[in-house]
Amino acid sequence: MDTCGSPPPVKRNRQSPTDDEDSVEIRAVLSHEYNEIALIKVHSCQLETKQQLQSVIQELSQKLPRFQHLKRVHDRNVLICPTSDVGGAESLEEHLQRYAFSAHVLRALCHQVKVVEVPARMPKLRVQYEQMIQHWPCKFHPNHYSESLRNGSNFSISQRIFHKRMGQLLTKLSTDVNKDRPVGICVDPRQPSIVSIAGASESSSADGHEHCSMLLVDFVARSQQGGALRSNLSFVEDQENTKTTLRGLPKAYYDYLKKNEAYQDLKFGAEISRKGQPQQQMSEAEHAQGADNLAKYGPYLCTGYDVYLLQEPCLMCSMAFVHSRAKRIFFLRPSDNGALVTRFQLHAVKELNHHYEVFQFTTDGSLT
Ligand SMILES: [Zn+2]
Repeated sequence: MDTCGSPPPVKRNRQSPTDDEDSVEIRAVLSHEYNEIALIKVHSCQLETKQQLQSVIQELSQKLPRFQHLKRVHDRNVLICPTSDVGGAESLEEHLQRYAFSAHVLRALCHQVKVVEVPARMPKLRVQYEQMIQHWPCKFHPNHYSESLRNGSNFSISQRIFHKRMGQLLTKLSTDVNKDRPVGICVDPRQPSIVSIAGASESSSADGHEHCSMLLVDFVARSQQGGALRSNLSFVEDQENTKTTLRGLPKAYYDYLKKNEAYQDLKFGAEISRKGQPQQQMSEAEHAQGADNLAKYGPYLCTGYDVYLLQEPCLMCSMAFVHSRAKRIFFLRPSDNGALVTRFQLHAVKELNHHYEVFQFTTDGSLT
């Protein structure tokens, strides 16, 4: 069986959800580029005199324009080319002869040659920068938002409280409404307001259509007069002339929350999609801007929406959120076949035309 997050690892050592409240943290799942210190091997030479510097650098930057992220010269050592550029039986000198360097520059490049390890690319975070410059001086453009994702200061206090509350709600809904099976919640973060809730059904099976994330995407589509899956669930119906729609919410979850004292302050509903808006004419680039487009064009798939999942989604479900252009995905428990942390980092694949941010709720600090 290839369901999302089966079997859910059970963490029952906590007495109640409220006991978790202070210990739950939210960690941004950053791509490998934010964590690793990738180094490459490079041929370097040592200049005999400072006078050689100008002509050597001038010719190198014309003929072998490499290492834009690095200082090309450090302590009279000059970076020539990655060792991988020099093929098999070829010597460095033979390799360099192809580039028609002047005789004195070629001589300088072949003096005291050695292999050094240098950063493979520009660091994303200051902590990487500090480690990388131990190897070789490199450039660094500090990015405040990236730093805040790493140190957790990207959310305001009220946002953080809301995200954690959704994290706890996942556990609660799974236990109380969905027989411990996975659930997902989709939220319009502007109010914030719950757009849809979906739970994996008993028949969650190999064909994938019953994965809770696939259902969630479909239920969000219901809130936009769409939805392709047949469901025998009953959904909340809208009153006439409302400004928001509750059509994406199965009655079972909605009624449970409405009856529960602790959730009286939660808001529900999606903005009604604006008919006649040229959503289909939006360019790919505009789609990618997410939240801005939610305000500008109204709801379109999961554009600008946040998704909260009990289980890390599988590859199929993670792709569904790419296609539906979710803004952020928060999940509580890793899954054996998870595609955001466990097996892949789908959101770090550059070739995809949409990227969401990924956050994991952690309860024991061991996942950092
Ligand atoms: Zn799945």
